Amino acid sequence: MADSAGRDPGDQGTGDWTEPGLFTVAPGVHRIPLPLPNDALRAVNVYAIESGDNLVLVDAGWALAETGGLLDAALDRIGRHSGEITRCLVTHVHRDHYTMAVILRRRFGIRVALGIGDRPSLTAAAEPGRENMSEQVLRMERAGAGPVIQALRDVFGDAPPEREDVWEQPDEWLKDQATIELGGRELRAVATPGHTQGHTVFADLGQNLLFAGDHVLPHITPSVGFEAVAAELPLGDYLRSLRMMLDLPDMRLLPAHGPVTDTTHARVHALLAHHEDRLNACLERIRAGAHTAYEAAMALPWTRRARRFSELDPFNQMLAVMETGVHLDLLVVQGRLAREATATLITYALPGPAAR
Ligand SMILES: [Zn+2]
Repeated sequence: MADSAGRDPGDQGTGDWTEPGLFTVAPGVHRIPLPLPNDALRAVNVYAIESGDNLVLVDAGWALAETGGLLDAALDRIGRHSGEITRCLVTHVHRDHYTMAVILRRRFGIRVALGIGDRPSLTAAAEPGRENMSEQVLRMERAGAGPVIQALRDVFGDAPPEREDVWEQPDEWLKDQATIELGGRELRAVATPGHTQGHTVFADLGQNLLFAGDHVLPHITPSVGFEAVAAELPLGDYLRSLRMMLDLPDMRLLPAHGPVTDTTHARVHALLAHHEDRLNACLERIRAGAHTAYEAAMALPWTRRARRFSELDPFNQMLAVMETGVHLDLLVVQGRLAREATATLITYALPGPAAR
C-alpha cells in the first residue's frame, strides 16, 4: 500500500516530516512545516516558491502567535524573509491553510488567492456571532448522532467563540485551469472539489510537482465535505477529483500534511480503493440493521489501526459520522440504498419493496 511509501526523497528531513525547518524539495521550492494546535494532523506544510526576488507561498498555515516567527526562522536558512512574500495561493479555506495568509496580507500587503468554490463557506465562516461548527451540529442531528453533539458541547462548549476577523475575502478567486506565472515557472490551478468545494491543487508540469493541499495526502485519508456550506454529494465530487489526478502526469506529491513522496498516482489508486472498501462496508452496516449514519459509524472500524468508534475523541467521532454520511449518500445515488430525509433525521434502507 502507498500508506507505507512515505519516504522523503530529496528532502533532507530526518524522517519526521513535522520537524521544524526548511527543506528544499526541488530547485527553488522549499517545504516549511508549521505547527498546529491540539491537532492529530500535527503540522501543516507551507511551500515557499522562489519567484525572482519574490517569494510565493502555497498555503500559509494557521495564524497562531508563533507562526510568523517560525516562518521567518525557516526562510532565514536560505537568506530570505517573509517581507519578500508577495503572494499566497491557498489550496482551501480551512483555517490551517488560509488564516495565516490573511495575517501576512495585513503585515506585508501580499495578494491572497483562493478557489472560487470556497466562497460560500468563507462567507458563512465570516458571519458575526456564528456558533462554533453550527453547520456540523445540524448535520450531526440529522445523522441521528445526538450523543456526539453532547460530547462536542462538553469539549467545545466553553471555548471562546472563534475569531471571525481572520475570515477576510481573498484578493483573487481562482478558477479551474487558471495559469499562474511565477518568474519563469508556470503553475496550473486545478479545481479538485471534495475535501472542500473550492479545493484547488497547483501543478508545476515543467518540474513535475503537484502542490496537493489536502486533496491527496500520503498517510491519511482526507475528510470529505467538512466545511461551513456543504456540497450536495461531496464524496462523488471527491472521487471525481481523485480520478482527475490520473489524467495528469504522475507528479511528485507535495502534500499539506505528511512527507513529500515520489508518486501521486499510487496514492490516488490507494485512496480510490479505500473508498470502494468503505462504500461496501457502509452498505453492509445498513444491511445488518443500521438506519442512520451514526448507527453505521458506530459499527465501523476507524483509522488505519481499526479503532472502535467509542475510542475516538468527540471531534473525530463527528468526522467519522460525517464520513459515513457521505458514503451512504453516494450509495443512494448509485441506487444501492434508499434514503428518507426529514428536516431532523436522515435514514437509510435497502432499496426495493421491502424499504417502502
Ligand atoms: Zn489541512
